[in-house]
Amino acid sequence: MITRFAPSPTGYLHLGHAYAALQVWDAARAAGGVVLLRIEDIDAGRCRPTYETAIYEDLAWLGLTWPEPVLRQSSAMGFYSAALDRLIAQGVMYRCFKTRKALAESAASAPHRAGDVMHAGPDPDEATRLAAGQAFAWRLSLARARAYLGAAFDALMFTADGQTYPANPAGLGDVILARKDFPTSYHLASVVDDARQGVTQVIRGEDLKDAAHLHVLLQALLGFATPVYTHHRLLVGADGKRLSKRDGAMALRAMRAAGTTAQEILTLCQ
Ligand code: GLU
Repeated sequence: MITRFAPSPTGYLHLGHAYAALQVWDAARAAGGVVLLRIEDIDAGRCRPTYETAIYEDLAWLGLTWPEPVLRQSSAMGFYSAALDRLIAQGVMYRCFKTRKALAESAASAPHRAGDVMHAGPDPDEATRLAAGQAFAWRLSLARARAYLGAAFDALMFTADGQTYPANPAGLGDVILARKDFPTSYHLASVVDDARQGVTQVIRGEDLKDAAHLHVLLQALLGFATPVYTHHRLLVGADGKRLSKRDGAMALRAMRAAGTTAQEILTLCQ
C-alpha cells in the first residue's frame, strides 16, 4: 500500500493537519505500507519556503518519517503541461473567457441557471478573443468527456470509505483545470502526482469527498489507475468551525513553544 500526505506550504501546520497526518501514517503502518510526502506548492503567490521547512520540522517532531526525495509540485510543471496537452488533444477541454466576476454576476442574476454557468461551454467569440490576447481558463467539458469515453463514462466506479460508488462528476460542473499561462490546478496536479507516485490509497479530509468523482474521471481520461479513497473528519475548533491556518494558536509550532509535547498532540488526535 502506497499512500501520501500532501500539505500546501501556505501557513504553519496546525492541530487539524496533525490529525490528518496521523490518519495517513496510522493507516500505512496498519497495512505495512509507505507514506510519500508531497508539497503542493503550485500557488506561488501563497506558498512560502519558511512554511515548507516548518512542514518538515513539524512532521519530524511528531515522529513521522517519509522516503526522500519529497515531490514538490512546483518542480513538476512539465508533467502537468503534458497531461493538459493530452486532454486538449482528446478534445475534452474548452477555453472559458469569463472572468470570475462575470461568472458570479451571471449566477446571481439567474440563480436557477447556475448549472449553465458551471457548464459555460465553448465561447462563440473564441477566435476574436484569442486574437485580442484575452486571458482564459481551461475547463473540462463533461459533455465532451462523456462523448470521448462513450459507455465507459457511465461505468466509472470507485471505492471510497469501504463502499463502491458510481463516479458522478456532474456535481462539480465543468471544472477549471488550468489557465492560459498556468498548466494546472489542484485537481490536475493531484491526479497526475497520485499516478506518478504510484499511490494506491488516497487518505484525505472529507471536504474533498466530491473531488474524488472528478479525479476518477481524470484518471480514466489520462489512462491512470484509480486508487482507493478514504476520507477522514476535519477537526473543529471551540466555535464548531473547522480549524484553519488562521487559527494561529493551534499551530503546532505555537503549541510546541507553549510546552505541549509531541505525545500530547498524538493523544489529542486519537
Ligand atoms: N494540498 C491539499 C490540502 O492541503 C491536499 C489535498 C489532497 O490530499 O489531495 O488540502
